[in-house]
Parts: sequence; C-alpha cells; structure tokens
Amino acid sequence: MSTFSELGLKEEILSALIEMGYETPSEIQEKSIPQVISSTDDLKAFAQTGTGKTAAFSLPIIQQIDVNSNNVQAIILSPTRELAVQIGDQIEKFSKNIKGLKVVTVYGGASIEDQTRKLNRGAQIVVGTPGRTVDLINRRRLKLENLQWLVLDEADEMLNMGFKDDLDAVLESTPSTKQTLLFSATFPREVEAIARNYMHQPVEISAGTKNTGSDDVSNEYYVVTERNRYAAIKRIADVNPDIYGIIFCRTRRECQEVSEKLIADGYNADSLHGDLSQAQRDNVMQKFRNKTVQMLVATDVAARGLDVNNLTHVINHKLPDQNEAYTHRSGRTGRAGNKGTSIVLVTAREVGKLRPIERKIQKKFIKKEVPSGKEICEIQLFKLVEKVKNTEINTKEISGYLDNIYEQFEGLSREELIQKFISVEFNAFLEYYSKANDINDNRPARESDDRGRRRDDENMSRFFINIGRKDNLTPPRLMGLINDQNITNNVEIGQIEILDTFSFFELDKNFEKETLDAFLANSPEFEGRGVNVEITKKRRSGGGGGRGGDRRPRRDGGNFRGGDRPRRDGGDFKGKRRESSGNRDNSNRGNSSGRVQNKSWGRKRD
Ligand code: AMP
Repeated sequence: MSTFSELGLKEEILSALIEMGYETPSEIQEKSIPQVISSTDDLKAFAQTGTGKTAAFSLPIIQQIDVNSNNVQAIILSPTRELAVQIGDQIEKFSKNIKGLKVVTVYGGASIEDQTRKLNRGAQIVVGTPGRTVDLINRRRLKLENLQWLVLDEADEMLNMGFKDDLDAVLESTPSTKQTLLFSATFPREVEAIARNYMHQPVEISAGTKNTGSDDVSNEYYVVTERNRYAAIKRIADVNPDIYGIIFCRTRRECQEVSEKLIADGYNADSLHGDLSQAQRDNVMQKFRNKTVQMLVATDVAARGLDVNNLTHVINHKLPDQNEAYTHRSGRTGRAGNKGTSIVLVTAREVGKLRPIERKIQKKFIKKEVPSGKEICEIQLFKLVEKVKNTEINTKEISGYLDNIYEQFEGLSREELIQKFISVEFNAFLEYYSKANDINDNRPARESDDRGRRRDDENMSRFFINIGRKDNLTPPRLMGLINDQNITNNVEIGQIEILDTFSFFELDKNFEKETLDAFLANSPEFEGRGVNVEITKKRRSGGGGGRGGDRRPRRDGGNFRGGDRPRRDGGDFKGKRRESSGNRDNSNRGNSSGRVQNKSWGRKRD
C-alpha cells in the first residue's frame, strides 16, 4: 500500500490531506492519482460510491492546475446538486494551501446570475450539474476553450436521470485535446456508449469488482405480505434502536406515505424526494446529517448526493425497478470502511427477483425473520437500562425537590423502585408488542396473497357500519360510499363483510381517525337511512391486537438522541416540540393504545 506522498502529490496537497484526516489512499485513489498525473490518456474507472472517488479524480487535477491562469481548466459533471456541492467543498479543502486556486459550483434551482458573477471572477475548476452547465455554455457564460480535464462522475446515474443530451452537448463543446475521466459504479450499455463515442482508447481501472456489492454490506431479506411491509419496517427500527439509515421507495408518493406513517408513529423520520423545494431538501439533509432525523425515506434520485458514511442500514421498502439501482442503494451503507446492512422487504412472490440481483452484486441474500415482539421488547428494555445508567444527574436543578421525592418513595425497596421506574417507560412497549403477531410470511409463493387479504393484517382497522344486505348494500356500493367520504386519496380498503342489518369493512388504520371524522362530518345517508360508522374490534384473535395494537407506543426518548426531547404526558412539564417534522408527537399519549379517540364515538363494539 502506498502513501499519498508516494503517489506523487505535492506538499500543499499532502498537508491539506493530513488536516482532513486522510492517512492512506483508498484503492481507487492509489490507481487513479498516479495515472492522471503521469498521463493524458482518457480514463475509465469502475468505482462504487463511497470508495474515495472524489479525491481520486480531484487530487491529480488540482496538482496540475495552472493557478496563474484564470481560465476554466477542469470541469466535473455530477448528477445532483448535492453531490456537486460536496465535490466543490472537497476540492476547496484539498486545495486550501494552494494560493490562487478557485473552484465554482454551478447547479439548477439557484440564481444563474450569482453563478455567472462567480465564473466571471475566474475559476480554474468548475463543478456542475449537466443541465445548468449546458445552460451556462449556451449563454456563453462558461467558456471551455482551454479545458484540459473533463470528469464525468457517477456517469451511470447521470444517464439514468435523463442527462444524456446534456452530456452529449457538453462533450461536444469541449476541445478534443482534453483528458476525459469517467467514473461509474456500473457500466450499462449507455455508459459504454459514452465511453466509445467520446473517449479515446481509455485506460481502465477499477476498485473492487465491477458491478458487485461491497464486502462491508450484509444483504438481507424479509418475506412479508404487501400490507405488512410497513409493520416490518417498524419492527426493524425497534429492534435496532440506534438505526441510522435510508428507506428507499420507488415513487415520491410511496416515500411520502411511508415517512408520514413513521412520523405519526413516533419515529425520527423525514422524507427526501423530488417534490420538495431546494430549501426543504437542504433542511431535511441537514437534519439527517446531524442525526436529528434517524430514518430518511427517499427516492433513488433524491438520495444520490448524500455524503453520509456511517449509515447502519439501508432498507428497500420495495425492490427497485432496475436491478442496477440496488447496487446504488446498498452502496449507501458500508462506506469508508464501516459495516452496514441492506435490507429488502419482499413478498413471497417477489423472492425470485432477488436472484438476478445476487448475480449482479455477486453476493447471496441472507433470509432473516422479522423480529418478534418479545425480541424487540428485550432489546428496548436493555436499551432503556443503558440509558438510565448513562443519564447524568442534574443535582442543581433537582436537589430542592429531592427530600419530598424521597419521602414519597419511602418504604419501597431498591428493587421495587427500579422496577417502577423502568415500567414507566416500558409498559407501553410491552403492551403494544404483547399482542403482536408473527408477520413473517412463510407460506409458499403460490399461496401468498399479495393483495394482502390476510386475516392477521395489523395495518388495517375494522369498522362497523349500521347498514347491510336489507338496505341493498353490496361490496361495490359500500366501497362507493367509503370513497364518497373523501377520507384521503386512495385509502386502502380491506375485507368487507356484508351482513343482514349491518356490515364490517377494513381500512388502512393510519386513516382511522380521518375515516371516523369524515363519516361524522358528512353524515351520509344510504337508501334513506342515516349512516353510522364506528371502530370495532377485529373479529379474529391477533391482528396486532385489534383496538390496542395499532399505534406503536411512543418510543423511549433515549433510543436515539432522545435526551434533547423533554416530554411529559400532559403533566407539569410542557413537552417542547422540536422543529423536526420527525418529532415524535406525544400529543396522543395518555391513551394506552396511543390512538386518537373521537369522543363522540363512545360506544364500543367488541
Ligand atoms: P467519496 O467516494 O469520494 O464520496 O468518498 C467517501 C468518503 O470517504 C468521503 O467522506 C471522503 O471524505 C472519505 N475519504 C475518501 N478518501 C479517503 C481517504 N483516503 N482517507 C480517509 N477518508 C477518505
């Protein structure tokens, strides 16, 4: 293994690297740096995210930049604004000891005038997203006549994101004498075509095996029904109280739904997808980086730019549409020498889809069981014990109350006291999970019903409705009636049971309150009868515990950065709401089921 100095880098760069804590070059750096310093040949590099690519292409360029000229000498194209900004920031750090070296980052969604002003002041290195770069070239504000290096970072992603025309435009407006460096984690046909059309006999280097997953990532899968995907995520989070990860969804809507449920259920979660404004994205990223947000629910594209090295988990809520994307997703964890876990939730019918991915990543998926309530309770209990042990006592603030408190606990043994204090936090967890079912779907694929009409579906609530067959109610008419209440967009309707004078239906339990409220507010009539809807207990045993089993107990504040969240259940201390939308909302506490009960629906039908 070489040192950075042995790779031929100059003193100003070496001193900056030391300050940044870079001690030894990564594999891709070891291969790329001397190559680009010593040769003007084009370079085609296979490198996963997180392998140190940025330094691999930036350092040899910085080494050779002529600081006496203000012309743009190098341009680096990257798929997202976040990634571009990170690369720009890294380059500033690498070159901080080189006087006169200037880098400007350009990207869409920000003022083109500001960026033009910066370019006019002179910059030897420009980092940009493809669209904005082409825009600046077309407006003659970015001049590339003197370009010596063109870097295509994450070329596969740029093409996936539809930047082919922009890449073609940039490649065609740059001098043919430049050196092109193409970095990509995967090499599908489109990337090969770019290499073929625009590069001249490139030298190939690779770090790790082409298209394979990292050795530092354990690839695991859980088999659940469609409807239990979300419940499985909750259990995975509960059994890993320190989870810090990304939950990948395929669409913005899926993203929004999962994150809203997580937030409502008390997890530190937030979402990142294309519908957010740039300011909102920045805000979410900031919260995720500083770990205020513990689980980021993101689309593939939105997560591209995230430079977070210590993620514990990647969770694939659903498999990506393209197998290539799995490599990118799982590559978000197990970075910079850390270990990580990439979890895939699949239905029994989807298990077969893992095989081609296994071939691509050249790793086997390990089948795991969704943890049982008992396992989760054990983990949470010991987490709580650890938290109590590590809690600092604020003697100054509490000393005035202590005599009174001691008096109140008089007569209790040490053991009883410990048990009581632990139970304060833990009872809600125990109650929730004591009724939890096994949600692993171990049935053969052909028996598995992906539409999820399973009896033990813990994501559905069962409602009673006071009309039935005698009122000419049929399942389609009932569905129409439910839809007419505009509860929310496309709320999922489960089992319907029409009886003579009344009926039952199941609905996504996250919209339980909305359903009751909608029927109450609309007061619909059916065949001349006023319609009355109430929550009812699930007919069969289990099912997440019917009335009690829906909403997870508010998580112990100590699971993850909980110490900054003062909270009480409506007692003397006012719970300060944190700004994060991932704040665990404790407003429903005090009701052991954690459910918001509409007082006007007092009658229970068990
Ligand atoms: P990259 O693949 O360039 O996004 O790098 C992934 C992460 O590893 C970044 O946070 C870098 O700062 C860090 N990194 C890259 N190379 C090294 C190195 N040689 N030593 C220590 N950290 C590194």
